[in-house]
Amino acid sequence: MNFLIIPFLIFPFFQVPIPFWGFYGHVLLNRQAVFSLPPEMLHLYKQELRFVSEKAVNPDRRRYAVKGEAEKHYIDLDHYGDSALYKLPKYWAQAIEKFPEDSLRAHGIGPWSAYLTFYSLTKAFAAQDKTAILRLSADLGHYLGDLNVPLHTTKNYNGQLTGQAGIHGFWESRVPELLAKNYTFWVGKAAYVPDPQQALWESVAQAHSQVDSVLQIEKILSLQFPLDQKYSYEERNGQTVRVYSREFTIAYALALDGQVERQMKRSIKMIADFWYTAWVNAGQPDLSKLPNSLEAPQDSLRPNSKIRTRTHDN
Ligand SMILES: [Zn+2]
Repeated sequence: MNFLIIPFLIFPFFQVPIPFWGFYGHVLLNRQAVFSLPPEMLHLYKQELRFVSEKAVNPDRRRYAVKGEAEKHYIDLDHYGDSALYKLPKYWAQAIEKFPEDSLRAHGIGPWSAYLTFYSLTKAFAAQDKTAILRLSADLGHYLGDLNVPLHTTKNYNGQLTGQAGIHGFWESRVPELLAKNYTFWVGKAAYVPDPQQALWESVAQAHSQVDSVLQIEKILSLQFPLDQKYSYEERNGQTVRVYSREFTIAYALALDGQVERQMKRSIKMIADFWYTAWVNAGQPDLSKLPNSLEAPQDSLRPNSKIRTRTHDN
């Protein structure tokens, strides 16, 4: 199945899984984050810009190939009730004391897992391991991007509980694909993050606070658009598929008052800040002296039919 080519199918019967934020979104976020880095880091990341941005989608490809990957991309805060953010321990070690690990994994471990990736990146910087630095930077960018998507923080992740199936890809793929070219992505220079775990949970909380508007506004707009205006048809990969119409997409983005753009910018800022913080915590190693050749190990990306993940029809 080629999820790289068809990022926002919404025909229920196609059930083609696609990367969160879409292929386009994740590549864009990692790419933009590079330009916020200080000169000591910028040289390496610019040199490897293609790798760091294109590999941004690898974690989503691993969801279908590697057991334990899928749950790293989200957390169902509403599973834990209204005070989830108070109930859930900030640190993984405490979380698995309080809840069975199976249960935690079943409802997503995004914030804890992103911290682990950040920690691994810090170690890669300390070891001056260029291959690991680049691979983990690309991965971390992906996970941080996901955690800034409101629908990655709810069990109603695709609107399937409210009769809005397809909204996942609509918000994070269709809107950026049509409108991101008009967005301004400069987020300023990377800043040090004194408490990365706290920052991760704050981002998730901020994203989760927007779930209601993501869903409500689509519902209200749907009342104003007859079905034949809400959807249109486009050629994708040799097939005619139903997509949210351009008019409906623009109306939605307008009604959200720039929410998608704001969340993209938050993601970019966070990615740059976390890359920078990992480098600082590793003692600011000289990145200009790393070996030139990039021989990244290949991720295992072959889909494994035994791995059950959430299916998004978006
Ligand atoms: Zn993802």
